[in-house]
Amino acid sequence: MKVLVINAGSSSLKYQLIDMDTHAVVAKGLCERIGIDGSKLTHKNISAGTETVFEKAMKDHSDAISMVIDALVSKECGVIASMDEIGAVGHRVVHGAETFADSCIIDDKVMAALKECIPLAPLHNPANIIGIEACAKLMPGIKQVGVFDTAFHQTMPKQAYMYALPYKLYEEKKIRKYGFHGTSHKFVSGEAAKLLGKPIEELKIITCHLGNGSSVSAVKNGKCVDTSMGFTPLDGVVMGTRCGSIDPAVVTYLIENCGMTAKEADAMMNKESGVLGVSGVSSDFRDLTKAADEGNERAKLATEMFSYSVKKLIGSYAAAMGGVDAVVFTGGIGENDGRYRKAITEGLEFMGIKLDDEKNKVRGVMTDISADDAATRTLVIPTNEELMIALDTERLLSK
Ligand code: AMP
Repeated sequence: MKVLVINAGSSSLKYQLIDMDTHAVVAKGLCERIGIDGSKLTHKNISAGTETVFEKAMKDHSDAISMVIDALVSKECGVIASMDEIGAVGHRVVHGAETFADSCIIDDKVMAALKECIPLAPLHNPANIIGIEACAKLMPGIKQVGVFDTAFHQTMPKQAYMYALPYKLYEEKKIRKYGFHGTSHKFVSGEAAKLLGKPIEELKIITCHLGNGSSVSAVKNGKCVDTSMGFTPLDGVVMGTRCGSIDPAVVTYLIENCGMTAKEADAMMNKESGVLGVSGVSSDFRDLTKAADEGNERAKLATEMFSYSVKKLIGSYAAAMGGVDAVVFTGGIGENDGRYRKAITEGLEFMGIKLDDEKNKVRGVMTDISADDAATRTLVIPTNEELMIALDTERLLSK
């Protein structure tokens, strides 16, 4: 069976067609500028090693998905003879609130529940819903599955997900920690157990997803028990442009004393903060590291703040779980940059964490980078959210 994985954004749509027998990506691509002048589809046929660009107006997501289908079955650059080869479609959905603790097959009831989640993710969920509706229209009869960024974190105990605010804000407004990147944390914790050769039900794992957005999760016996992102993806680690955890009173101070509106403060914390805000150089860690190496003090400070924020979470999650068997690094930075892995784990020898400097040079390959005598394993595991979505889709279909 082949599963089509769709990740719909407000003006973009990414897709991958995955063969479930081999778990190989057969084709993938990106629709850009949907509903805007200059829209285009870039389609890659993986086995043929070709890339084809279609420049054609896409007025909405229906147009985009229609073009994706045409590309997939096209004689020139296609990978399947007909749509019948697609067994199901798996959709990435950002927010599933408390309603969705697992992925689910989409029906009318689920669509209604998805719409109820919109206030919690006003920028992301509407695009995901439009993507689902467009697929339902163009691929009638093909099962569709929603896979939620928040679902894996729904196992957190109440003491971990509640904020110490008046209780009615939780009851009436659903204000609590949800956590994000769940598909990635679930995938890499599962792969970690395989690499360690132990059942996940017997392991305490800390997963560090470090990329443009970063989050750390505590996974005990295969279940998430805490995570660093919160009500929104702004909380936790210092990120590319997001500030991570700060004293919430800073926000009221900005509004009352610095002439900012709530909207401006929100935009500043999401888009102009993090390592970009501190360094004034870049949100991209490659540029940032280069500037730090060249002597830029603020860039150096930003890298140190980032590593320190991750290190503290590793310590606190080991405390939350009563120990840790493995720390996993994933995401663009976690998978590729040994310097950050080293900076984050330095000083954690008291927890049995110790890297092998030679093994830590690895980039983007699943590897145990711990020193032979380390009691706690440190692993690099490339994430694969699309495969996780496809696997969940297959699992639900077989139920
Ligand atoms: P992601 O959001 O997971 O795509 O990660 C993006 C971040 O990973 C950016 O800050 C990049 O600078 C960083 N990154 C990606 N590839 C590399 C690499 N090969 N070496 C170092 N950093 C990288």
